[in-house]
Amino acid sequence: MKNEASEVSNRKPRKLWWIAILGFLAACAPKLEPESSCNFVQNSQEQRVSWKGNVPIEFKVHKSVPVEYRGAIYLAAAAWELRTGQRLFEFKGIDYSDKPAKKDGSNVIYWLEEWDSSKESEQARTTIYWKLDRIEEADLRINAENFTYFTDEIDAGTVHLKSLVVHELGHVLGLKHNEKEGSVMNSILANFALRDEISDHELDSFKCEYF
Ligand SMILES: [Zn+2]
Repeated sequence: MKNEASEVSNRKPRKLWWIAILGFLAACAPKLEPESSCNFVQNSQEQRVSWKGNVPIEFKVHKSVPVEYRGAIYLAAAAWELRTGQRLFEFKGIDYSDKPAKKDGSNVIYWLEEWDSSKESEQARTTIYWKLDRIEEADLRINAENFTYFTDEIDAGTVHLKSLVVHELGHVLGLKHNEKEGSVMNSILANFALRDEISDHELDSFKCEYF
């Protein structure tokens, strides 16, 4: 950089200070070095995105989630915490607003009785918003139009809600799909399948960012 600056300053000496200041700013900018994925979503500079220790993540459950299903959501969050030994989620009560799911600075879990008709096979959708490599917000939508859910007794033809939410909370933490056997981040959750035990695959990924 010094050589480059001095070459330029030889031609345009008055700009030397500006070049020095720009060089200083560049040195102070966040590192943009690529990182290995560890099965995390990566930003355009190939850095993992996560909450970077900014946990527990404060969540609200939207009023649209029926009362009888809320317990499964809390159990899914507890499954992550028990397996990792970290306090990751803090539920701050019920969101009673009528606002739709959007980027608004709060993390909310919604239950949607109407779902995009072009995506009927989607059981749920988690949206994360990040700046640089830090996730700043996450919203989780559960498809209650095209699927029905069970919490305790296995009910053929329906989806185990806790297993689904364990998967979606993995996305909240920044994880991508992982098709390895036993991973809760497999992209497909079959009807009546129980898949709520966080595997070593997730724990290995988790350690790249949260330990
Ligand atoms: Zn998924």
